[in-house]
Amino acid sequence: MGYILSQDQKELQQSVKKFMEKEIKPYVSEVDESGRFPLELYEKAFEMGLHCLGIPEEYGGGGLDLLTELILVEEISKVDAGIADSLGGNALAFQVLNLAGTDSQKKLFAERVIPGGFAAFALTEANAGSDSAATRTAATREGDEYVITGTKCFITNGGVANIYIVFAKTDKEKGTKGISAFLVERERPGLSVGKEENKMGIRASNTCEVVFDHVRIPADHLIGTEGSGFKYAMQALDAGRLAVSAMAIGIAQHALEEAAAYAKTRVTFGQPISKFQAIQFMLADMDMKIESARQMMVHAATLAAEGISYTREAAMAKCISSDAAVDVATDAIQVLGGYGYSREYPVEKLLRDAKIFQIFEGTNQIQRVIISGRLLGS
Ligand SMILES: Cc1cc2nc3c(=O)[nH]c(=O)nc-3n(C[C@H](O)[C@H](O)[C@H](O)COP(=O)(O)OP(=O)(O)OC[C@H]3O[C@@H](n4cnc5c(N)ncnc54)[C@H](O)[C@@H]3O)c2cc1C
Repeated sequence: MGYILSQDQKELQQSVKKFMEKEIKPYVSEVDESGRFPLELYEKAFEMGLHCLGIPEEYGGGGLDLLTELILVEEISKVDAGIADSLGGNALAFQVLNLAGTDSQKKLFAERVIPGGFAAFALTEANAGSDSAATRTAATREGDEYVITGTKCFITNGGVANIYIVFAKTDKEKGTKGISAFLVERERPGLSVGKEENKMGIRASNTCEVVFDHVRIPADHLIGTEGSGFKYAMQALDAGRLAVSAMAIGIAQHALEEAAAYAKTRVTFGQPISKFQAIQFMLADMDMKIESARQMMVHAATLAAEGISYTREAAMAKCISSDAAVDVATDAIQVLGGYGYSREYPVEKLLRDAKIFQIFEGTNQIQRVIISGRLLGS
């Protein structure tokens, strides 16, 4: 989307591209194979400020507008979507404070994250993924404190975060309207990290269970008002879904570039396979899917910048981009033939990385529930 980028955006994009290619790319394959959390790579990303791109400057962040942030997230994800996901976890968590947090809550978050650290957005539970109303984690008011008890699962940065945004029921009779949001520091007694997921893709990111066993926090760690937590979570996920969209587009763009480069060098029947119309059309379809996804994401980000509701468009961008990433990565493997299926070439990893984007931050079925709900007024 070079034609709509400002000079500043292009320069930032180039510097992130250069950083990712030099400092991260050489280690991507080893990290994917081992599944280890590459803290030393994240430390380099912290120095570049990639963990706090959109956090306002007054709290020490990069202060970037949403569209510029998305352009950079795509560049990060082009090299490794797992790294993009863990860095993006900070943005999603901060978004809740952006919507409803106090100045001192934002400062507490910034103290923990800006010098170089992670945050987590902890909503999902074993029996409450798509169905948040089934949340069991409870927060009970006792004097000047809340006491939180429950277990969250599949939490990005769950094992490495210094601070958590936790969604818990303050009224178990009220479904999603009984959910409240809290800021919880890592070292609070009773907070522990449970099982770490051994994932199919985005293996450079950390995904863990987080256990809250009578964790006491001051009452002023309630974010916004009691019962509004689900509303904040959904609003934060509007922006989060655009970041997911940018990450998926990064994967797809990488897959297309690998496929196009390979097609120009692989010779069959005496000529490069790029000379066959079957391959040319496959590459053209891949390019169309990516550009359509990117334009949908930019459209949603433009609405966001104008202060216009973009829930529907964010859901569309998330679906279109993640479906494009899975399709394009699959087709990239096809272009590479047997080599595409081998771990010696990068494209099979791209398909494994792409799949999660159809699942988290609301599955693509749930995005369709959101879109059709707006259409039908249900
Ligand atoms: C790697 C990874 C990272 C994650 N990071 C986080 C995180 O940081 N924070 C967090 O809170 N969560 C996180 N999650 C959780 C993720 O958001 C959930 O897994 C996701 O929302 C789906 O919930 P579920 O797994 O319980 O599936 P379910 O809700 O059980 O869904 C199972 C299937 O049923 C479909 N389905 C369910 N309800 C409906 C319906 N009403 N209509 C149509 N179809 C439906 C779903 O689309 C899906 O296909 C992460 C998950 C993974 C795997």
